[in-house]
Amino acid sequence: MEKQSRHVEEIFSSVRSGTAISSPVVPVQLQSSDTFVFHCYQGIACWNQCCHGADLTLTPYCILRLSRRLNIRPKDFLAQWTVPALWERAGLPVAKLKMGGENGDGPCPFITEKGCSVYDDRPVTCRYYPLGLATREMKEDFYFSVQESYCRGHDEICEQSVGTFRSIQGIEDYDKVNRGWMDVMMKAASWKTLGGPYGKEMTSQTKKMFFMVSTDVDALRHFVFHTRFLETYEVSDETINTILYDDEALLKLGFNWLKNVLFNEKTIMIKEHVLRAAVSKARETFGAS
Ligand code: SF4
Ligand code: SF4
Repeated sequence: MEKQSRHVEEIFSSVRSGTAISSPVVPVQLQSSDTFVFHCYQGIACWNQCCHGADLTLTPYCILRLSRRLNIRPKDFLAQWTVPALWERAGLPVAKLKMGGENGDGPCPFITEKGCSVYDDRPVTCRYYPLGLATREMKEDFYFSVQESYCRGHDEICEQSVGTFRSIQGIEDYDKVNRGWMDVMMKAASWKTLGGPYGKEMTSQTKKMFFMVSTDVDALRHFVFHTRFLETYEVSDETINTILYDDEALLKLGFNWLKNVLFNEKTIMIKEHVLRAAVSKARETFGAS
């Protein structure tokens, strides 16, 4: 049992308020076909309460969508709307949406009386709420329910399956783009717990690269096209042409690169001549024939 629980890594806690008296996570694992009772609508007594002091880690696709929505570049979105934070499970730097109030317990900057002003592009954690997503053994997703005492949506008579809810909330598009990033997060968390990679802490340079890939698609494009990246890695001409303009495709390449750099996965290949040069340099260094 101990082993299993150590491998379960929650990605989106979905606990959006720090004011709950006890843990609002219901300890029941839900599958896509399982149902739960919930309905949220404008006019409900608790309208907008959950959008105060929310703890929202932004995924790469959340940042992309919100930047496009606000018609600004990701770098400017980060500077204006986020605060840097640490995802402690993996010791990795992330960006969180900046809440109002001195201690971050005030309203979300996007809340209005009518509700969320960026609704069509709201972060994935907001879409999931009141569910959370977790993954077991880095293979199998499951869900859990979050029942904060102030949220009246749980008292409404409206039963739906997790799968239907995910579809209505437009979550699949987010998961499709973020999947590789979520894999990196989970693996890094697991390795932190279990002592990998090779029992070493990630270097600060590696963490910086992770943050760049996770938050700033412009910086990632600059890195791919204006460093030795394309001389070093096998990237097809078709992919090169695609990632020039396609941010989602570029993110996927970035996640594959992270998996290779962090975990030595064969998600992107180093060019043969680069490898041979590295081997011959190592031989020279160690005096081998
Ligand atoms: S982004 Fe929208 S849904 Fe999410 S906390 Fe802010 S106002 Fe609420
Ligand atoms: S029902 Fe829950 S999710 Fe909807 S506004 Fe109220 S607190 Fe927020």
